[in-house]
Amino acid sequence: MSEYNAWFRCIDENCDETYPLTEIIYRCRKCNNLLEVVHDLNVLNKKSGTEWKEIFDYRYRRQNWPYGSAVWGKKEWVCPLVEDENIVSMYEGATNLFWAERFGKQVGIEDIWIKMCGNSHTGSFKDLGMTVLVSVVKQMIEDNIDIPAVACASTGDTSAALAAYCASAGIPSIVFLPKDKVSVAQLVQPLSNGALVLSIDTDFDGCMDMVQRITKEQNIYLANSINSLRIEGQKTISIELCQQFGWEVPDWIIIPGGNLGNVSALGKGFLMMQELGLIDRLPRIVCAQAENANPLYLSYLNNFEEYNPVKAKKTLANAIQIGNPVSINKAIRTLKQFDGIVEQASEQELADAAAMVDKTGTFNCPHTGVALAAFLKLKEKKVFDPKDKIVIISTAHGLKFVEFKIGYHQGKLKNILPKHANLPIELPNDFSAVKDAIEKNILN
Ligand SMILES: *Cc1c(COP(=O)(O)O)cnc(C)c1O
Ligand SMILES: [Zn+2]
Repeated sequence: MSEYNAWFRCIDENCDETYPLTEIIYRCRKCNNLLEVVHDLNVLNKKSGTEWKEIFDYRYRRQNWPYGSAVWGKKEWVCPLVEDENIVSMYEGATNLFWAERFGKQVGIEDIWIKMCGNSHTGSFKDLGMTVLVSVVKQMIEDNIDIPAVACASTGDTSAALAAYCASAGIPSIVFLPKDKVSVAQLVQPLSNGALVLSIDTDFDGCMDMVQRITKEQNIYLANSINSLRIEGQKTISIELCQQFGWEVPDWIIIPGGNLGNVSALGKGFLMMQELGLIDRLPRIVCAQAENANPLYLSYLNNFEEYNPVKAKKTLANAIQIGNPVSINKAIRTLKQFDGIVEQASEQELADAAAMVDKTGTFNCPHTGVALAAFLKLKEKKVFDPKDKIVIISTAHGLKFVEFKIGYHQGKLKNILPKHANLPIELPNDFSAVKDAIEKNILN
């Protein structure tokens, strides 16, 4: 048994209820608030910040399974109770931190980076948290707790990650998808991995209600980010970012937000590093929302004094088409701690921003487009100093959203006039026509 320890605690400071991580529980039994994972910092503090950095750096990307995973390389900070043989890992994290040098030059900010979290096993950053949740489930099953299946409601990426990790562990999975609201790639991923896929004639918020009711009645384990085990994996983004900068803290992090678990995960990683002496200052955090699903943005406009869920309208950024985010309280708390900003992006803005940055070598998903558009808008508002170090979190791989990408270039996205369209030139099988086309477009 490891000396490191962690447990669930109610996020309401006046409540203080705690529960073991291997209990099937998602909300506080006393006050119904969300739970969060708390670590025994006294034990973690027995090592200095420098020692932790050395341990994390030593393990990073090595083959010593499972510690080469950038999530499990930080196991003591993430989920110490899982025995190594029950860890379900596919080498998460360690994704490229892309220096967006050319894009930066175009906009006059040189120190700008895109953290390519979508370059991962299932093509989105959801792998980081899912490895933790499914590993805990495997541990619970090994401990003879009866869990017949794991289920989630999803806007696409959570279900892909759940299905893959469960398939790898041999655990049945059930995914609740809003019918016709996810991309083809997002639908085919859980199908391929053998999940039971329920395509329901509702939106994400409707699927979320449904899965919460089912998991309350049956022993089926709930994998949505209301389950704060996933946050523990997602928070390693912050740690890895600093690690990739040689333990330097950036000035700004911009992240797209829907259900809002990730903005608080980001904050949690930084706070833990500060408490345990790995860093001595905090970045500012920007949460970027689609204008069509912007309840956090609306609340930000009145200093978070009021908050109302909205009915999410259709957005190209389908993974954040959420009107009633489950982690709203955690997100607001984080934004207050990190002097945060919330910005929104219209459909036109997110599509153009994604395409503009694609032209400098990336391949952005629409959610990353939301973050990029928010960056451009805040830059116009002179929020950044030109010397600031800025990181944009790219949350999924563009290849999961080819309908969005090709629709943009073909001018087929509804109400969007593509500023950066690039179309194939169709030619007869004729050498001089080919030569002409090249001369007109490149050699003129
Ligand atoms: C889940 C997801 C988000 C938003 O994360 P939340 O924690 O729900 O705010 C953003 N982009 C992509 C691609 C996602 O899958
Ligand atoms: Zn409580």
